[in-house]
Formats: sequence, structure tokens, C-alpha cells
Amino acid sequence: MPGRQFDVIVVGAGSAGAVLAARLSERDDRRVLLVEAGPDHDREHTPPSISGPSFVAAMAEPGRSWSGLTARRTAEQGQRQYVRGRGAGGSSAINAMVALPGEQGDYDQWERDFGCAGWGWQSVAPWFERLPIPLRTATPNETGVVARALFAAEETAEPAMLTRSADGRRASVNDVYLEPARARSNLRIIGDALVNRVLLTGRRAAGVRLADGTEFEAATVIVCAGAVHSPAILLRSGIDREGIGLGLQDHPSFPLALNLRVPVADPVQRPAVTALLRASHLVHHDLQLLAMDVLDPSLPSLGLLMGAAMRVHSRGSVRLASPDPAIDPIVEFAMLSDERDLVALRAAATLAERVALSAAMTAVASPAPYDLSDASLMAWVGDYVHATGTCRMGPPDDAAAVVDTACRVIGYDGLLVCDASVMPSVPRANTHLPTVMIAERIAATFDATSAAV
Ligand SMILES: Cc1cc2nc3c(=O)[nH]c(=O)nc-3n(C[C@H](O)[C@H](O)[C@H](O)COP(=O)(O)OP(=O)(O)OC[C@H]3O[C@@H](n4cnc5c(N)ncnc54)[C@H](O)[C@@H]3O)c2cc1C
Repeated sequence: MPGRQFDVIVVGAGSAGAVLAARLSERDDRRVLLVEAGPDHDREHTPPSISGPSFVAAMAEPGRSWSGLTARRTAEQGQRQYVRGRGAGGSSAINAMVALPGEQGDYDQWERDFGCAGWGWQSVAPWFERLPIPLRTATPNETGVVARALFAAEETAEPAMLTRSADGRRASVNDVYLEPARARSNLRIIGDALVNRVLLTGRRAAGVRLADGTEFEAATVIVCAGAVHSPAILLRSGIDREGIGLGLQDHPSFPLALNLRVPVADPVQRPAVTALLRASHLVHHDLQLLAMDVLDPSLPSLGLLMGAAMRVHSRGSVRLASPDPAIDPIVEFAMLSDERDLVALRAAATLAERVALSAAMTAVASPAPYDLSDASLMAWVGDYVHATGTCRMGPPDDAAAVVDTACRVIGYDGLLVCDASVMPSVPRANTHLPTVMIAERIAATFDATSAAV
């Protein structure tokens, strides 16, 4: 489909953007353009590291993550790398494939506390059930020593459900949604194309401008660049909602490193996460513990128990460092700035310690030195690569809301944001499936809601 005029432009081919481009192009009279900053690979040309089961290998694939992006977790810490996927499939092409929908109370809170009518559990649950993404656990052969010890130590530990097909291949949104849509004459996908800004005519979206100056026109632009880059695009475009970039959340985590007594064979041939423990501290499933045999293929004797606090209250921000789209924004998580998150992280770290010191675990690994004091938690808290909340959904009269419950940017015509950034609070789940659920719903209601706010 040559030319520069489309009906809909989708920016970003990740967990949300790939779904929207595929669903909206099902109507063959709608011309859809999908623009992605990273490389576009169809199934045949996807590198083995991306299609394989290990996110450790996928993250190492050149060009498939935002290599210069950094974030500060707490004021006590410096800037360190923050991993986001890049290229067809976005973060779903490099993630750890853990598949969870979240808890009923998370979505009921979106509806009750954040005014997101129609996003309570009753409304969203059927959408999770009908997602076309195949889910499987790892095979017994793939289950590593740390996971086996976790199962032995904690009877409520579960095999992690993973987004994988029967042949063991990763099932990213590129595989599940874009691949079957690629032959459509009304869908054009452009990779290696960094969007600078949304073009506006007054308060109506008119298209996008790439970093190299190329412009494409469309009556509707849907920004799906993820919770770090979507607010940056809105800010570069001069959108005037005051909540843009505020409200950033991720799950704080604490790494308890394990020195394994047996080196792990073939670390990049297996899923890195095969087991998890969901536990309760104050509310149901507000703690998570991940068992990993490998963090770095060059260190085959280093395993990990990662405890995470899944119910989050602290909020940080994403701000522009420069109007230059090639310069990543400033990301400050302000993790543990709410005292409740420090208490929850201590509970998660204590859970990790309990498992690390269990007879089953000490038979195969010994914990590296660790310290669970508040100062140590502030110094070592990590993220869970689950950035959300920077273009929050809410009612138009809520100043903190950036989009309404149909993901339309409040006060603008023809402009939507749809990705993990619209979540009003991060659910007690890994965020890929919730993001896909949101995109499926917005695609299904697109025709009915595409009128102006
Ligand atoms: C290493 C890693 C492991 C993870 N593990 C899990 C897991 O096991 N389970 C789980 O549920 N979740 C996991 N997550 C989180 C989950 O994958 C994300 O929450 C989800 O994919 C976010 O979807 P999204 O559509 O908001 O953004 P993304 O999927 O990140 O997509 C955004 C896309 O927009 C593109 N883009 C950005 N800026 C521009 C621009 N200016 N112009 C054009 N394109 C642009 C990006 O390149 C990217 O392709 C993980 C994430 C990472 C990074």
C-alpha cells in the first residue's frame, strides 16, 4: 500500500500496538499504518534468540531493546538501564513470557477509585478468556534447579503459565496477531521508523512526523509506544493534559542471588522463569517470588530468587530530557516513596529469604550475602519491567487522567493512547496480558467510540 495517507496510524508494534493494527485492519476498507521504531521481522526472519524460550537471550539481541534507556528507582540510586522491547512485538518479543491476568480487586479498583466505568472485573474477565495467545507451562526437562527447590520448599508454588506455542516457540503479539495480518493489502508495517510527534490541526490529530522528517497523514492516531515512550511522544507533540508522564508505577523487587552448586546446562535453550510463588502479605497475592536459574549466560552458576511487591502505591514520572526524539526521556520511579511499599517489599524479601534458607534450596545453592535493612532495600530495590500509569485512564474532569475510558486523549479529536501507560494503577500481575486485554477491548469498541471527546 504505497502513499502517505491512511485512516488510522498506530505508533509502536508492541503488546498493544500489534493487537490494534491487526484488529483494525480486519475491516478491509480501513487503511492502517503501523510505525515501529525498531526492526520489523516477520515470523520467518525473526532471530532465533527472539523466537526461542529464553528472555535472557532475547534481551541480548542487538536492536531489540532500547539500549540507552535508563531509570532511577529511588533517590538513593543512580540511573541504571531500564529494559523496554523494540521492534515487532515490542516488549512481548523479549519478555519472560509469564502470563497472569491480575486479580479481581485490581480492576474493581480501576472502576471504583479511578472512575474507569466499564473496566471492573466483570467487564474485563471475559476478554482475558478469549485472548488467542497460547499458554503453556515449561516441560519437566526445562524446569531448573531453583524452580524444583522452590516447589519442594513451598507447596503453593506454581508452574508459571508462559506465552508459548506447542512447539516451544515464544508467542509474541508479532507471532499471534501481526503474522496472520501481514498479507492484508490495507495494512502497512514500517520498521526502523522513529516517531517524533503527532501532527495536529488545532486540537485534532492529522498524522505523525518521523524523526527523519517524513510525514504520514491519518484521521486517527493511536499512540502505543509503551509507558515510557507514549508520554514522551505526547509531550513532544505539545498535548496539554497536565497528567502526562505522571503516575508512573512498576512493581518494586528485591534480588536474592544464589550461588548454584551445579552449573546450569543450556541456559538460553530454556525459559528462564518456570516457577513462581504468589503469596499474601496484606491482601491476596500481593507478593510474588520468581525462581530463576540464570541471569546472565556468562555466569552459569548464578541463580536468583526475586521477591516483588505486587500492590503498589508509590508513583514516579517520565519527563522529556530534550525535544530530540533520539534522546530518551528522564524516568524516575520514586519506588518505596510510599511507606506501604517499603513494608511490602520487606515482606517479599523475607519470603525470598525463607525459600533461600529452606532445606530444599540449601541442598543445591547458597545465598550470596544479602541485607534486608531499610537502607539496603532502598539501595537495592529493582524494578519488574512493568512500567504503567503515565497516561492514566479516567473521567474527563479528573486532572490526573490523560485518556478517557475509551482511551481517547481528553480534549483532542482523533488521538488515542492505548498501551500499559493507560492503566490507572498497576495490577497484581505481570503486565503483558493486561495490556493485550486493553488493546482488544479498544479495538472492539473503536468504531462506536471514535467520535470526539
Ligand atoms: C525484559 C522484560 C521482561 C518482561 N517479562 C514479562 C513477563 O514475563 N510477563 C508479563 O506479563 N510482562 C512482562 N514484561 C512486561 C510486558 O512485556 C509489558 O508490560 C508490555 O509488553 C507492555 O506493552 P506496551 O504495548 O505498553 O509496550 P511495548 O510492548 O513495550 O511496545 C511499545 C512499542 O513502541 C515502540 N516505540 C516506542 N517509541 C516509539 C517511537 N517514538 N516511534 C515508534 N515506535 C516507538 C517500541 O519500540 C515498542 O515496540 C516484561 C517486559 C520486559 C521489558
